[in-house]
Amino acid sequence: MQQDRLDERQSAVSAHGELVTVIGGGLAGSEAAWQLARRGIRVRLYEMRPQRSTEAHKSDRLAELVCSNSLRSASLDAAVGLLKEEMRRLGSLTMRVADETRVPAGSALAVDRDLFAQRITAAIAAVDEITVVREELTEIPSGVCIIASGPLTSPALSWTLQQLLGQQYLYFYDAIAPIISASSIDRSIVFAASRYGKGGDDYLNCPMTRDEYHAFVDAVLAAEKVPTRDFERCVYFEGCMPIEEMARRGRETLAFGPMKPVGLIDPRTGERPFAVVQLRQDNQAATLYSMVGFQTKMTYPEQRKVFRSIPGLQGAEFVRLGSLHRNTFIDSPRSLSSTLQLRSRPQTFLAGQLVGVEGYVESAATGLLAAINASRYLNGLPCVVLPATTCLGSLVGYISDPQRRDFQPMNANYGLFPPIDGRERGREKRQRLADRALRDIESWSVAATIEPIAAPMLGQVDGAAVSEAN
Ligand SMILES: Cc1cc2nc3c(=O)[nH]c(=O)nc-3n(C[C@H](O)[C@H](O)[C@H](O)COP(=O)(O)OP(=O)(O)OC[C@H]3O[C@@H](n4cnc5c(N)ncnc54)[C@H](O)[C@@H]3O)c2cc1C
Repeated sequence: MQQDRLDERQSAVSAHGELVTVIGGGLAGSEAAWQLARRGIRVRLYEMRPQRSTEAHKSDRLAELVCSNSLRSASLDAAVGLLKEEMRRLGSLTMRVADETRVPAGSALAVDRDLFAQRITAAIAAVDEITVVREELTEIPSGVCIIASGPLTSPALSWTLQQLLGQQYLYFYDAIAPIISASSIDRSIVFAASRYGKGGDDYLNCPMTRDEYHAFVDAVLAAEKVPTRDFERCVYFEGCMPIEEMARRGRETLAFGPMKPVGLIDPRTGERPFAVVQLRQDNQAATLYSMVGFQTKMTYPEQRKVFRSIPGLQGAEFVRLGSLHRNTFIDSPRSLSSTLQLRSRPQTFLAGQLVGVEGYVESAATGLLAAINASRYLNGLPCVVLPATTCLGSLVGYISDPQRRDFQPMNANYGLFPPIDGRERGREKRQRLADRALRDIESWSVAATIEPIAAPMLGQVDGAAVSEAN
């Protein structure tokens, strides 16, 4: 170990004798604390509940699932299913407990939410290396630290983060527009062009006639919406107004807003369409396109139905659907490296929804990677980057890509993967991507000497012998 890193390790020991501080005992923080402990590192885990709760949490347990009890697909056919498998191979506590507390849910991995949080809480309490402190932390400690305080980070800590990163690099509201896989867009209808030909043919445009537009507006108005929770009630600011709110204000509002057709000529008719839905390239490989200005609170099934009525999107494959909710997250492309370290402060790691990943599994997975790297950092080893061909590697690569502008949170999806040779499509292609990812994560974990199999500590999670703690 380099001498300076040894010195740093020495000075990293807090007044309480811990080497790493983890802020937030949610999905990411619990996984991170446990991963550090199994590598023999002492952890001080700060969780502010029950002293201070968030608007969504109901209990004082660690790793509480705040909404659905589903961890989404269990199948390798979905990227989130692959992510789960990668986590299992890296010895994830979250996955071990999820598998143990599984309830029937078809092809999804759903869990008994109480048992899940209870077992994670108990597993953490049973580990000598972890001290759980039930306090809100409002300052970032000077030593090695993982910040995993989640989408509902307390206001005082958010303020500290703003000071650290710069005001403009911390967001509080999430207005997500759907993302579509490029291969599912009907290019015989959709045309590439920028308004008035300015800036090259950068956008894909789905043209609509007057009748198609009005039918679309009616469908948007009639669609079922996700109820607004009390804490989400806000005056929408222009940049994140949902399309249904615009449609409610007037039948033509959308045609003068995100769907305005000015400066666009449909090459099929030689005329300006009545309205257009614009799609913007979302990744360098041009395999993903986002719907410009299409944030919405329509339910997921309704979004699929309504958006597939748009000309050219009949067969659209959505890799992410739209949403709108309170969400604290950093502008990761500007602040975070692909090792999950702050660029300006390498002893500070971030994980969970705060880094702009979306979902329980994604949050826990980044906690796992942050812990691997925090442990390496403390031991004077270089921090590691996951192969881009793995699900977690592709996701972390996406959020930390410095080329990315207008950053919005992202969940695991096959559209983020580098292309693979071959002519397969659909399920067969996804199977090949999954095979490659699992092969690559295995060889990566060997090369980076990441222990792939959980240590005997995993045994402590099992069974009724573990009493509920905290
Ligand atoms: C309302 C809502 C519903 C969601 N529903 C789903 C869903 O159904 N499915 C899905 O996959 N994802 C969902 N998500 C997204 C996301 O997956 C979850 O929020 C997930 O819990 C994020 O994990 P995390 O570890 O980043 O944060 P959390 O699990 O929220 O953990 C953060 C922890 O930090 C604590 N904390 C905050 N500030 C401090 C502080 N200053 N000091 C000490 N502790 C602090 C909090 O109390 C909390 O326990 C939802 C998000 C929200 C906000």
